[in-house]
Amino acid sequence: MTNRTLADLEQNQEFIRRHIGPDAEQTKAMLAEINADSVDALIDEIVPADIRLADLPNIEESKTEVKALSDLKAVASLNKVNKSYIGLGYYGTLTPNVILRNVLENPGWYTAYTPYQPEIAQGRLESLLNYQQMCLDLTGLDLASASLLDEGTAAAEAMALAKRVSKNKKSNLFFVADNVYPQTIDVVKLRADMFGFDVIVAPANTVAEHDVFGALFQYPSATGEVADITSLIDAVHDKKAIAAVAADIMSLVMLKAPGELGADVVIGSSQRFGVPMGYGGPHAAFFTTSDKYKRSMPGRIIGVSRDTRGKDALRMAMQTREQHIRREKANSNICTAQVLLANMAAFYAVYHGPQGLKTIAERIHRLTDILCLGTATNGVQAIHEHYFDTLTFKLANKDEVVARALAVDVNLRTDVDGHVSVSLDETTTREDVAVLFDVLLGEGHGLDVAALDAKIIECGHSSIPPSLVRESAILTHPVFNSYHSETEMLRYIKKLENKDLALNHSMISLGSCTMKLNATAQMIPVSWPEFANMHPFAPLDQAQGYKSMIDELGKWLVELTGYDDISMQPNSGAQGEYAGLVAIQKYHESRGEGHRNICLIPSSAHGTNPASAQMVSMKVVVVDCDKNGNVDMADLKAKAEELADNLSCIMITYPSTHGVYEETIKDICDIVHANGGQVYLDGANMNAQVGITSPGFIGADVSHLNLHKTFAIPHGGGGPGMGPIGVKSHLAPFLPGHKLVDFNNELQGNGAISAAPFGSAGILCISYLYIALLGKQGVTDSTKYAITNANYLAHKLSEHFPILYTGNNGRVAHECIVDLRPIKEASGITEMDVAKRLMDYGFHAPTMSFPVAGTLMIEPTESEAKVELDRFIEAMTSIREEIRKVEQGQWTVEDNPLANAPHTLDDITDANWNRAYSVQEAVFPVPAAAANKFWPTVNRIDDVYGDRNLICSCPAVETYIDAE
Ligand SMILES: *Cc1c(COP(=O)(O)O)cnc(C)c1O
Repeated sequence: MTNRTLADLEQNQEFIRRHIGPDAEQTKAMLAEINADSVDALIDEIVPADIRLADLPNIEESKTEVKALSDLKAVASLNKVNKSYIGLGYYGTLTPNVILRNVLENPGWYTAYTPYQPEIAQGRLESLLNYQQMCLDLTGLDLASASLLDEGTAAAEAMALAKRVSKNKKSNLFFVADNVYPQTIDVVKLRADMFGFDVIVAPANTVAEHDVFGALFQYPSATGEVADITSLIDAVHDKKAIAAVAADIMSLVMLKAPGELGADVVIGSSQRFGVPMGYGGPHAAFFTTSDKYKRSMPGRIIGVSRDTRGKDALRMAMQTREQHIRREKANSNICTAQVLLANMAAFYAVYHGPQGLKTIAERIHRLTDILCLGTATNGVQAIHEHYFDTLTFKLANKDEVVARALAVDVNLRTDVDGHVSVSLDETTTREDVAVLFDVLLGEGHGLDVAALDAKIIECGHSSIPPSLVRESAILTHPVFNSYHSETEMLRYIKKLENKDLALNHSMISLGSCTMKLNATAQMIPVSWPEFANMHPFAPLDQAQGYKSMIDELGKWLVELTGYDDISMQPNSGAQGEYAGLVAIQKYHESRGEGHRNICLIPSSAHGTNPASAQMVSMKVVVVDCDKNGNVDMADLKAKAEELADNLSCIMITYPSTHGVYEETIKDICDIVHANGGQVYLDGANMNAQVGITSPGFIGADVSHLNLHKTFAIPHGGGGPGMGPIGVKSHLAPFLPGHKLVDFNNELQGNGAISAAPFGSAGILCISYLYIALLGKQGVTDSTKYAITNANYLAHKLSEHFPILYTGNNGRVAHECIVDLRPIKEASGITEMDVAKRLMDYGFHAPTMSFPVAGTLMIEPTESEAKVELDRFIEAMTSIREEIRKVEQGQWTVEDNPLANAPHTLDDITDANWNRAYSVQEAVFPVPAAAANKFWPTVNRIDDVYGDRNLICSCPAVETYIDAE
């Protein structure tokens, strides 16, 4: 018998102490090291008093995992998941279970970061290369990106590329065929509006009448027609303009590739390759183009290079094109993309192979033929003779049919007057087709699926025009022809996973990226059918579970940000920036001040800030930072006043990208407001604010939240993410709406940021559970422990390296910058050498050279326990000693374990090892590294070689065979 109370005993179930790494004892030890009395006393020292909130946020108390999951299950069950035939880019799909469990639900895949450190990311790089190869084969073009956010934004990027590369320089007009998906048209129109392009939406066959810089067609069309668009593409080319085609990936298995029809750009969604609909996302969009436009390509591209041993090695190609470096000159503002989902789609193609995919596509097509023949036999004729999987009917009794459909839990597409459309998919069965006959024809039609099938074979009629039947082979590369049994597939997935360092191996202390715990409990509902299988355009009354979850999460986020309203539409932080700037611009217009177009951005800003400003045609004016990394107030004041007539806004990150709570933040807001501007506060660093201050309280007008940073959505190896924006009430009327889903009548005409009304709604349950599990105390404690961990790290590291910026009393916020420039000066050892050497110690490098070149920015988050921080400190300390040996001449600048890092099994099994240091020193530099060894699978990769010899498809079969 103990005398602990029941409440004491129940503490074991609390999630807070599982989420926060350091326990009471570790915290005490850390506080003693940094000379602070308590966590709260430390916070008081660091966070300026005038921005501190008086009370805990007004959200619920924490829940146990069991309770939070069962409560959310009740919410999920409010969703009524009908059988969906709505189509329009979202289809039922059968996620192979081997992929569901071993990729989507596997932290080895979902907790990895964007592969900026390619030597420890060869697994997902290989899978992304497979994705690119798959897209190239299916679309018939030369160059693919490694995923964009969704089909709508991919179409908008195609338009932007067309404007950049079109030789019809005098045209400002973009043509969109009126049979493009309506949600895509909406996204493209808003994007065009913001760029200052004109858009005409008209029947596809009228394209020749317009003097355009580019045109977008849909193949097959939104109503399902498969038409030969070669002559339309030729007409576009006659104008020296760019032809883009939005294509359905499954149909491309059977149809002639758009590239073979002459398209310059092909975009679309790879959702139906095994990625659940999730009420709109996340899914990977694909983007392919011709090699000659490679410098204009949006998003990331994976390329083949070689390592220092001459071995093929993969990396992100042309990284210098990235918005982080090119800022307002960037091709796009894309940072977080959809890597996890691109990988799922690629694995789907690997698993099924060309034959399997053909069988799947043909089966879908056959069921569609059966549906078409059966209805026609009964006098209901589909409007198009040629189709793949979608039939559209013009019905006098549309209402009756729709009512019959709903009565048997079936959703049809109904947004076109007098028409219904039916899109079949991989999940459709012959029983489903029989039900569709009942729905479309009423009882007593007397049709039999098997008999219709026999008839189709007998008459041999094809519903695909002969000129559009695919003749070119797809997926001939061995990778798509090797892993078709589950055992082989499982091992292939595992083989790739083993090459990658993710959070399930060690801390990933990337500054500004907040790589915290993504709790297993938070991931579980992502796979629940109630959430996973909902079509984004399902009637709202069927999505009440989603509505309840999204509303509640929105309410919590409004409370935590101090704003008045929120939009869940943006699919990434950078998309949130764009949405926020659109709202600011529309607000100015509503007051007759649409001329305001200056965006002030501090020199320390994240590259997406200026890239987003450029997307809304703002002019970026850079504000200086002082020697302490803070905004130079005199410069800000001078520029704001001088440019007051045209000032639109400032974009500022808080705490600053230098990891400091600027004391002047309220003054910054005041100065900008006083000169007629709005304050966009980049919320990427919200992990240093939650519960203790807020952007709204500080005085900002709008912010995005990276739910994949602060609110526990895992990074997926480079996406998915979510970037909802919070706004003050005056900006709320300018939040995005949606053409097809009237979730807020007042916003419907505002245009859309994303294809789906609530962005990647399918992963919002992760952030929902994050907050529900932690409650008001837990989310606040998380912030405090994130700051405590960062200060402990900064303090311990400062014994060996200079810490670049600190606040008034020598403290940092939730991250710190280690300055390696003096070391480089003294020893020739670079920040890159340190980053690569950390791999030998089993760590992912911190953020390199952002926001300051030659530095490492470290953000430990609240989730790392002291033991892990100490391991990292030990590694950095040991690295410092290694550098000292170079400084002292014991090792030369060329021959030392840093310059040659990372080390691989190839190194230590090299019979000619003749380095100035031992194999032991190379790969087991400290006992902890030996005890839990992570082996980089390639040596340091040659970036320059990769960009000079750009190869962005799977290596030729010969090299593949050589490597076996
Ligand atoms: C991560 C980040 C962004 C971009 O967010 P994404 O979700 O990657 O688009 C913007 N600003 C800052 C400061 C960031 O750290």
